Amino acid sequence: MSDSDGKKTLGLRGGSHSGNVKQSFSHGRTKNVVVETKRKRVVVPKQGAGKSSGGGSARTGDPSRRPAGISDAEMERRLKALQAAKAREVEEAREREAEERRRAEERERLRAEKEQKEREQREAEERARAKAEEEERRRAEEEAAAKRAAAAAAAAAEQPAERKADGARGGAAKQAPASAQQPVQRKSEREREQQARTPRSKTRDEGRRSGKLTLNQALTGGEGGRQRSMAAMKRKQERARQKAMGTQEREKIIREVQLPETIVVSELANRMAERVADVVKALMNMGMMVTQNQSIDADTAELIIEEFGHKVVRVSDADVEDVIQHEADKPEDLQPRPPVITIMGHVDHGKTSLLDAIRNTSVTTGEAGGITQHIGAYQVKTDSGAVLTFLDTPGHAAFTSMRSRGAQVTDIVVLVVAADDSVMPQTIEAINHAKAAGVPMIVAINKVDKPEANPDKVRTELLQYEVVVEKMSGEVQDVEVSAITGQGLDNLLEAIALQAEILELKANPKRAAEGAVIEAQLDVGRGPVATVLVQNGTLRQGDIFVVGEQYGKVRALVNDKGDRVQEAGPSVPVEVLGLNGTPEAGDVLNVVDTEAQAREIAEYRENLAKEKRAAAGAATTLEQLMKKAKDDENVSELPVLVKADVQGSAEAIVQALEKVGNDEVRVRVLHSGVGAITETDIGLAEASGAPVIGFNVRANAPARSAANQKGVEIRYYSVIYDLVDDVKAAASGLLSNEIRENFIGYAQIKEVFKVSNVGKVAGCLVTEGVARRSAGVRLLRDNVVIHEGTLKTLKRFKDEVAEVQSGQECGMAFENYDDIRPGDVIEIFEREEVERNLD
Ligand code: GDP
Repeated sequence: MSDSDGKKTLGLRGGSHSGNVKQSFSHGRTKNVVVETKRKRVVVPKQGAGKSSGGGSARTGDPSRRPAGISDAEMERRLKALQAAKAREVEEAREREAEERRRAEERERLRAEKEQKEREQREAEERARAKAEEEERRRAEEEAAAKRAAAAAAAAAEQPAERKADGARGGAAKQAPASAQQPVQRKSEREREQQARTPRSKTRDEGRRSGKLTLNQALTGGEGGRQRSMAAMKRKQERARQKAMGTQEREKIIREVQLPETIVVSELANRMAERVADVVKALMNMGMMVTQNQSIDADTAELIIEEFGHKVVRVSDADVEDVIQHEADKPEDLQPRPPVITIMGHVDHGKTSLLDAIRNTSVTTGEAGGITQHIGAYQVKTDSGAVLTFLDTPGHAAFTSMRSRGAQVTDIVVLVVAADDSVMPQTIEAINHAKAAGVPMIVAINKVDKPEANPDKVRTELLQYEVVVEKMSGEVQDVEVSAITGQGLDNLLEAIALQAEILELKANPKRAAEGAVIEAQLDVGRGPVATVLVQNGTLRQGDIFVVGEQYGKVRALVNDKGDRVQEAGPSVPVEVLGLNGTPEAGDVLNVVDTEAQAREIAEYRENLAKEKRAAAGAATTLEQLMKKAKDDENVSELPVLVKADVQGSAEAIVQALEKVGNDEVRVRVLHSGVGAITETDIGLAEASGAPVIGFNVRANAPARSAANQKGVEIRYYSVIYDLVDDVKAAASGLLSNEIRENFIGYAQIKEVFKVSNVGKVAGCLVTEGVARRSAGVRLLRDNVVIHEGTLKTLKRFKDEVAEVQSGQECGMAFENYDDIRPGDVIEIFEREEVERNLD
């Protein structure tokens, strides 16, 4: 015990307050336990705390343990203050609680009040709206009724549907109030909105349709959290009214619809002033699945027009051309215009040299620009100030082809005859052409610089062909010139100017332009380009025109100096950009008012030409058949169709092919043109059993599939010699084996990268077949071949590969060629030996 006592003293600072307790356990065991009263800080002491026996208070009460200098009284005072503070705290907490409760109650009350107010407001608004609806409805009904009276038939169809709709809506509205009468209490805004919105819209319909408005319905409307604006209501009303009125109006306006033999669906809709979608739907109902861009025949269109209640006015296809102005110009509008000169003569007599010499004279004499651009024609100014327009396409083909197409462009023919030679076959041809066209001639006796030149011999010889020159006392001017030394050139120009004066050439610059195509080609960068010689009127940028079977809107005009110009007057040659396709030399250009007119005329002409060609093709096939049947030894024909990249090569090929042939076989060019091989070409080729020859051009996708379908052979060439050789061999029946190309794939260039050490690399997608590293490749831009060669690299991701399959992407670079652009197509081909088979 003493031990424990000692321990106790050590362990407890208030030793006297601890004591021993004897604990007794079962089985008679006992244990003495030292009981220690745990010290506790007491905030609120009991009375006479100083003498209390509690350990804690003992400590505070024990003077020896008090902080120095604090008396009992002080202690007491402090305790009291503490106690008071505590009491205050408790009181304050209680007050706060009460305040809180009061505020919550206040909030609750305010909310309730606000809701009540809102509800009232909504009810009022709904009542007003319902009233407005009622009025609207009544007005609409009155109007509709008036209309109905006017057009009873339509109304009869309309009404049952309306009544049916009424019934359906009425049913929905009956349910509405029940579901709408939700208690408004403390629901989240959204919840309330959702519940209220659906029935409310039903109610609105109900309100309009039934014409009655119950308080329930009005209240239901008021339940909605979000307000529908009056404007929205009005809009809806307006829409409904317009719908009702629209049906009536359509009945009233009966249009006269001009109907050509075929018409594009959208144009038909346009002419009837109906919606395209409605027309397409009507066609669909008739079992015709067409889009708005497709053409339908007149009979179908007539049914549609009648269905829409309009009147059909059938017009002949040819009538579409009527929009082109043909009336004569008033004399006061006419103004002098420069003459247009064509130089003709035998080959090697110096036509080209003379044209160059004339052009250079004008350049050296300080004309604007220094570098002339070859656009097929140019203008020069003589020393006396006269302006002359020269056609830069020597040769008779251009002259005759133009004339045959109705474009009489030339005013004056300069007949070139070499003084060291004599009148030759083509000289005679030229004389005949000029005479046939009724165009005055001027004889240029060329090469007078040559020692052996004998101009008088030429003059005499010309007499035989009824060309009597001035020196022989005739009417025809004759000038001795030298294209090489420039001798006599001024005289020649003045002679032309004089002739022009006699002709009194005039035109009206104020009217819509009319012109003739001198040259046309598919330019890689600029698209189809035509050099047009304006013959009358003024062609301006932005003008809409039709030219042959093509049409367009003038995007830009470029003159013979290569400058962009805004307009071109009579006798001015300009390059015209903005065509939809490549026209042909000799095609006539006419400016019209609208693009629709232009398109219509172009389409009409295209169809006409197609029919003509088909008829011609069929006729020759028949002819051939008859010939063969009659006599096998007769000359047979090998018909071909030629498409080339430029007019020049087309003409050269046609000329070369027409020379091909012997006693048994002759080549006949059915048609030749510029640009990609199209479906039309395939159609024509099929009709005549002819192969299509593409020179640096390709068939477009529809043409390719048409050719496959119809079994038309398309052959591509890039060297005229090869082409002619092949045709020659086929014509003479030499069907030996040959090396032939097979297309194994096509790839589309998506992107072009610059890679150091490699150059430009094309990021491609193989669209057809396969790309093979070892194969030959061609670069096609707008279906025109612009490069042929081999591949430097074929990469799939980072690796060089031998082949890339269709649908995969790859990188390609050409050997020694860099001008690649996104959008270009790479044609991959291989050569193989096959049996010859041309027709
Ligand atoms: P084209 O076939 O009628 O266009 O004739 P070219 O203009 O090509 O000329 C044929 C050849 O005659 C060329 O070699 C010219 O250099 C030459 N030539 C043309 N005009 C003259 C000339 O006035 N004097 C001489 N000496 N040679 C000429």
